[in-house]
Amino acid sequence: MMSCDAMPSIPTLRKDDKYHVFISYSTVDSIWVSRLIHKLEETFPDLKICFHERDFVPGKTVIDNMVECIQGSQKTVMVLSPDFVRSRWCLFEANLSMFQDCMLQKVIVPIMLKPCPIPLHLSHLTYLEADDEQFFDKLTQVLLSNNSQLAHSSLIHYQPSFLYNGKSLLTLPALNENGGNWQPGAFASDFVPDSLRVVLDDSRIYKEAIEIINGIPSSNSLLRFTVCQVFFCLLLVVVFIYNSGYIIASIATFSEGSVYFNMLPFLPIVMVGVLLMPILCIKIVCWKFCQAKLVTREMVKKTGQANLIFSKNSVLAGCSSRTQLYFVYASLHQCMETFYITFGHSSVLATNMWEKAIITYSSEYACCLARKHFPFNFTDSSGHVENGICFCQFVAHQLRMEK
Ligand SMILES: [Zn+2]
Repeated sequence: MMSCDAMPSIPTLRKDDKYHVFISYSTVDSIWVSRLIHKLEETFPDLKICFHERDFVPGKTVIDNMVECIQGSQKTVMVLSPDFVRSRWCLFEANLSMFQDCMLQKVIVPIMLKPCPIPLHLSHLTYLEADDEQFFDKLTQVLLSNNSQLAHSSLIHYQPSFLYNGKSLLTLPALNENGGNWQPGAFASDFVPDSLRVVLDDSRIYKEAIEIINGIPSSNSLLRFTVCQVFFCLLLVVVFIYNSGYIIASIATFSEGSVYFNMLPFLPIVMVGVLLMPILCIKIVCWKFCQAKLVTREMVKKTGQANLIFSKNSVLAGCSSRTQLYFVYASLHQCMETFYITFGHSSVLATNMWEKAIITYSSEYACCLARKHFPFNFTDSSGHVENGICFCQFVAHQLRMEK
């Protein structure tokens, strides 16, 4: 990224620059930040640092102050922590249009101070870890480099509408979110949600794909469950009455040749019935749970089928539960190309294999992308996604696991 041989000198400020760096942080983290600022100013007396406790102009709004500080600084350091995401970043996201222009040409240096969800607009950037032993050296190297030197660094450049593979576009809740476990989720299909419009503008395509997911026939399990419960209760009552009657009557009138004596051979059947009852009971309790799992599995399959349509528009849907769909940006051209190279160009086999892979694995892949978490580590960097796992790598891994 940068040469380490010589410490670069402090970059000169252009006429529009007031500061070398603006440090944005949450006041909760101010002790750590003021120590850092102190150390930086002590080590590099000529480095002009801007931070809100000292440099915000009283009487102006926080937003105006922030915009001015970002505009007047060569670089912006963001100290990420849960409090930062809650306070500063919220302001930023809520006023994104105001910040977007002033951020475009700027270098952003995210520092991870405390683990927190990384804001979407920063998630493609590499961040510095505050607990890294060489943190201070790495930070000063970035701060003392000219922005032009950093042009190809993965630390920087704010890209507001930049689409990259794996970017989360939308989390879509089902219309029947609060319905019972029995019913598959139903999703609105009439119009394309705003956050998908960037990549998918045709409402007919969107409708067609969503209708596939919505097309799971409503389960009649609820009815079966109720019938089974009623049957179970009746059986319980009958067995109870029979047993009580049997015991009372047999004590009172037990003698050879009486009705109850004659029914003695049926006693084992009754006992078996009583023993089987707990099993039936457990089965009924588990039923609801199994049914929810079954519905989700069916929805995952349908989502895979819908992805045959979505993937042509570089979108993948992921179904993580009955009531939620994730949408991520995923351009699969190169992965598809790999399938065709593997199975032969213009072969029916290649097309079939590709479609089968999409139907079987794309929903889970999309969920992993959306959560930014894969259930396995992957060190092979020969995939088609920079710093990530591409679809063909994911499929290959799943196939190996199944074997
Ligand atoms: Zn690939």
